Amino acid sequence: MIQTASMVLRNGTRLLSAAIGDGASRDARILMAHMMGVETDRLTVELSRMITPTQVSQFEHMIKRRAMSEPISHITGKRAFWKHDFKVSADVLDPRPETETLVELALTGAAPETILDLGTGSGCILLSLLGEFPDAQGVGTDLSDAALQVAHQNAVRLNLSNRVTFQTANWFDGVAGRFNLIVSNPPYITAKEMESLSTDVRDFEPHLALTPGGDGLAAYRSIASELAGFMAPDGRALFEIGYLQGKDVVDIFSAAGFGAVSLHKDLGGQDRVVAVSGPKNR
Ligand code: GLN
Repeated sequence: MIQTASMVLRNGTRLLSAAIGDGASRDARILMAHMMGVETDRLTVELSRMITPTQVSQFEHMIKRRAMSEPISHITGKRAFWKHDFKVSADVLDPRPETETLVELALTGAAPETILDLGTGSGCILLSLLGEFPDAQGVGTDLSDAALQVAHQNAVRLNLSNRVTFQTANWFDGVAGRFNLIVSNPPYITAKEMESLSTDVRDFEPHLALTPGGDGLAAYRSIASELAGFMAPDGRALFEIGYLQGKDVVDIFSAAGFGAVSLHKDLGGQDRVVAVSGPKNR
């Protein structure tokens, strides 16, 4: 039977709604648009189109995956961040809107020649910054080779691969040189918070990228202990933090000897980024 996209969408929405409740209608629309190869905001005008039985089963398969709580981004293979769509997979943290706060802050400083991103994941922060700073060179590190493959594919897709290198590393291990801008969105969820995460996140996103365990601050301690050796004297470092970690993270960098440490909020008004300046950038 040939059906219109509209009929198929209605059935899919009903199925999904029974499984996940709120958000089912929006998610079903995103999946239908993805299956039809149209932008989500163009979907309404495309809904009267007939779709083939093969397309119907593709869509139903996506709805079933979402009904099992799999994130939309893993089903479509992409997630929008800053000015681009990034390829994502189960090997990388999904880029989050609050991380754009870090990108925005980076743009308020002098244009860097060199940028280091610790725990680059999908590469979303580093590649967005290289897009904004056309003369900069970047290095992205990650413990996960699988994540770095995704980052590399994103660099190629965005035509930035000639200005970036990726290396497997535990924070600064094996990194050479000093950088004008150092950024990181390290794992910061506490062991206790992990217990109350939604299934979409806990069962589908890499735990290595989400949490260092314990009080969630281990990454900041490691980074703070080595940061001075990698930051240019006029450099700046920006770290995303959990909204309750502002004071602790400011204290960690202050105790490591950095004189200029500041706390910045995201658009939701929550503490989100700690900025650290080098000795010649006060
Ligand atoms: N830098 C990537 C991001 O911000 C990955 C961060 C991570 O894996 N903790 O999305």
